Amino acid sequence: MANIEHDDTGFTCECGLRNEYPGYVQAHWSVRLSYSCACQRQYILYRGTVVKTSRESAEISDSEAFGD
Ligand SMILES: [Zn+2]
Repeated sequence: MANIEHDDTGFTCECGLRNEYPGYVQAHWSVRLSYSCACQRQYILYRGTVVKTSRESAEISDSEAFGD
């Protein structure tokens, strides 16, 4: 549920590093682009939104253990 701070020219990674969008992001505004921060975290850039891609969510949906 991490909200990634972003604006028209870039975003701030969870590691705290500011990433300026490369030129191709503006050129492909309506295309989903994967982007990796220097810390190896991966994001999807799409129409000015930034979504972190995580494998964790896939693991969560796998867990159905409750009522122990
Ligand atoms: Zn980072």
